[in-house]
Amino acid sequence: AKAAGRDQLATFDRNLREQRRATAATVERLRGAVARDELLVHYQPLVRLADEHLVGVEALIRWQPAGQQMIPPDQFIPSAEDSGLIVPIGAWVLRRSCEVVSEWHRRHGAVVSVNVSPRQLREPDFATQVLDALKASALPPAALILEITEGVLVNSGVVTEQAIRHLTTLREQGVRVAVDDFGTGYSSLAYLRDLPIDHIKIDKSFMPAPGTPDPAARTMVKAIIDLASGLELGTIAEGVETREQVELLRELGCERAQGYYFARPLPEAEAAELLARAGRS
Ligand code: C2E
Ligand code: CA
Ligand code: CA
Ligand code: CA
Repeated sequence: AKAAGRDQLATFDRNLREQRRATAATVERLRGAVARDELLVHYQPLVRLADEHLVGVEALIRWQPAGQQMIPPDQFIPSAEDSGLIVPIGAWVLRRSCEVVSEWHRRHGAVVSVNVSPRQLREPDFATQVLDALKASALPPAALILEITEGVLVNSGVVTEQAIRHLTTLREQGVRVAVDDFGTGYSSLAYLRDLPIDHIKIDKSFMPAPGTPDPAARTMVKAIIDLASGLELGTIAEGVETREQVELLRELGCERAQGYYFARPLPEAEAAELLARAGRS
């Protein structure tokens, strides 16, 4: 039994070493990707549930190495975070998406949601970077939503002051803050009342399974929406894939939604086309 345990430990150790090596290799490739301009941003439409009008987009990063398949963010964002590369990459996504959506804002009133990693909010000049991106693109602050996860604000029960200061500064200028993947983290609910946030994004894992009544999921979604509206926070549902889910969310008073039912994340030109078409109807 002892030998088997040692064997397991050795295997575990080897896996860990391989994993680290894979990460180091990814970091090197990613550094090259930034230099070669292989990163791009796709835009997923965001819909207002009351009238199903397109009101904005979420910016989602993509990595397209020359002559290869697109690499999804889940496969490189963790390495970018560990290595700190997320700081320049995140700043680039912010500048790029403010610039692109600035025109969509002028033409169609569109807003943009941008994901911000915890590592970015630890930079002393994060708020300045955001305000500079807004100024350079002429996008009004109120047309920008920053998406953060629960862990950004509260880490092991401790409120992270630097992040709070940045978000407070930005909200004073009109920028909005959304808590992404709400309900999947480990923080307490108490923070919702006191922290500088405007919207809650209901994680896609809470969507009722298609084709079933799924009363448990329904109860959870209702509880999250009621909690948010009681605290005067906006609600955005993600991962909406069916008509049933749309009807349920509207019935429960959710304000906005995004998901494959409406549209997948789209390349810039296709998102622009969709916005133009929606604007004419
Ligand atoms: P997220 O912020 O929760 O983004 C939503 C993810 O759900 C996106 O995956 C989107 O393509 C996917 N999705 C949208 N609609 C549906 C649907 O109806 N059903 C299902 N099953 N999925 C749907 P994506 O683009 O692969 O991004 C994955 C994650 O990578 C994001 O999750 C976010 O955490 C991270 N990410 C993406 N772009 C950035 C970025 O610029 N900066 C940072 N820090 N993280 C990013
Ligand atoms: Ca997000
Ligand atoms: Ca999310
Ligand atoms: Ca997520």
